[in-house]
Order: sequence, then structure tokens, then C-alpha cells
Amino acid sequence: MKITQGNKEALIKRAATDIADSRKTIALTGAGISVESGIPDFRSAGGLWDKYDPEEYAHISAFRSNPAKVWNMIKDMMELVLGAEPNPAHIALAELERMGLLNSVITQNVDGLHQRGGSREVIEFHGSNQWLVCLGCGYRQESASLSFEDIPPRCPQCSSILKPDVVFFGEPIPPEAQNRSFEEARTCDLVLVVGTSAVVYPAAGIPPLAKQSGAKVVEINMEPTPLTGFVSDYLIQGSAGAILPQIVEEIRRHAA
Ligand code: NAD
Ligand code: ZN
Repeated sequence: MKITQGNKEALIKRAATDIADSRKTIALTGAGISVESGIPDFRSAGGLWDKYDPEEYAHISAFRSNPAKVWNMIKDMMELVLGAEPNPAHIALAELERMGLLNSVITQNVDGLHQRGGSREVIEFHGSNQWLVCLGCGYRQESASLSFEDIPPRCPQCSSILKPDVVFFGEPIPPEAQNRSFEEARTCDLVLVVGTSAVVYPAAGIPPLAKQSGAKVVEINMEPTPLTGFVSDYLIQGSAGAILPQIVEEIRRHAA
């Protein structure tokens, strides 16, 4: 599908109208929304994931069998996140929430940038980099307190290895996040799907669930995904940091 500049503008207007008319809008975001903050997604070349193959490093069995090796990747990711700032896409979603037009953000990201961008109702589907959890006794501590001298870090209570409180491949989704997300999907009438390749389940099941419950699905992505043309009502193709602020601007223009 070729998207011309003209019809992109029309689609931005259409999204603005859909959001303004909706009773309950939610957003589902993925790694793509943080790319403009300097955190690479799994697909783009030249980033962290050229050095560490996610298939190899992001599986819980890799962590369990060689935590020291996987901790090198975690350390690089944490340093990248510490130096990153929310971008105009995160800020636009926070703005929509403040305007009373966005009920919640369900994010697959673990970088905390939605909260730092001002969003309040954030459901972290895959956990957060902000906390470390002990695999032995469940002890938790903030990642900020971590010195990267001793990798892998160990629990002060039982000396087992600490793991960031993020969901690795092969691990279950935190039940509360999953239940809340599915409930949001069932009860919304519009879902904005932003910067996700929509291939990692069960998160990728959220737009189809919303659709089955009668919601519209609007996709904002650099490229088509498996949702495009099937689950999505339309795709606005391009960068989230450019498109989301334009949608907010368009809603404001109409309200004025
Ligand atoms: P993904 O890497 O599989 O897909 C990212 C999608 O975003 C792609 O479709 C890409 O075309 C699109 N994209 C890239 N730049 C964009 C931009 N500027 N604007 C709009 N779209 C853009 O990511 P995923 O679907 O989230 O799945 C990967 C898993 O790994 C998730 O759990 C994810 O959260 C995790 N992860 C998280 C981070 C983070 O916390 N920032 C970074 C990498 C991976
Ligand atoms: Zn412990």
C-alpha cells in the first residue's frame, strides 16, 4: 500500500476525529515509540540488538544458564535508558491523557519513558527495568541503587542472582497487568497501536481482542505489521514522534 503525503494528512485528521468522538481510547505501545529517544527496537540495524541477539539473550533460559553473560546486555540497556529522555510521541500520549481523551497506555516497553513523559495510567505489560528481583527469595530493590561493578548482582538476603523485573521470553506476564490490559481492551472503543511489530504474544492479542469487542484499531508505525489490513482500520505510516503530536494539534484546532 503506497501512502502519499496527502492521504497521510487525511489519516491524521481522521484519527483526531476518531479520538475526539471516542468514549474510551487506549494505547498499546512497543519498542518503536522509544526509538526516537535513542533506544533501538529489535528490528532496526546498528543498535544494541546487533551486538546481542534478542532470541539468544532475552530468553529466561539464557538468563538462568549464564546470568553473567546476559547481565552484560542488561547493563548496556540500562545505561542507554538512563541517558534517554521521553520524545514527542511519549509527550503527546501524556497530553491526550491530560485532555481526558486517553484512558490508559499499555506498554510492552520496560524503559519507564511513558511515566517520565507525564502519563499516569501506564500498564507495564512486560515489567520494568526500574526494579531488580531476587530469583531465590523474591527480595526487590531499585535498579538505581545498583553499582555495575559486580555483575551479576546478588541478593543481599540470600546471595541468589538478581534479575531486572522485566518479562523475559519464556516467562509469564504479571497477572495484574494482563488482566487490566485485557479488561481495557474489552471495554474501549478505540485503540491506538504505536510502534509495535505486533508479533509478541499475548501483547499482540490486545488489538484483536479490542476489535472483537467492537473497537476501532488505529495503527501508527514505520511499516505495515500483521495487523495492517486485517485488524487495523487504518495505518498511519511514519514516525510516532512526528505523527502523534500532529494528531494532538489537530484535536486542539478543532476544539478551539
Ligand atoms: P519490535 O522491535 O518488534 O517492533 C518495533 C516496531 O516499531 C516495528 O514495527 C518498527 O517498524 C516500528 N518503529 C520503529 N521506529 C518507529 C518510530 N519512530 N515510530 C513508529 N514506529 C516505529 O518491538 P515490540 O513490538 O515492542 O516487541 C519487542 C519486545 O522487546 C517488546 O516486549 C519490547 O517492549 C521489548 N523491547 C523494549 C524496548 C524498550 O523498553 N524501549 C526496546 C527493545 C525491545
Ligand atoms: Zn534473595
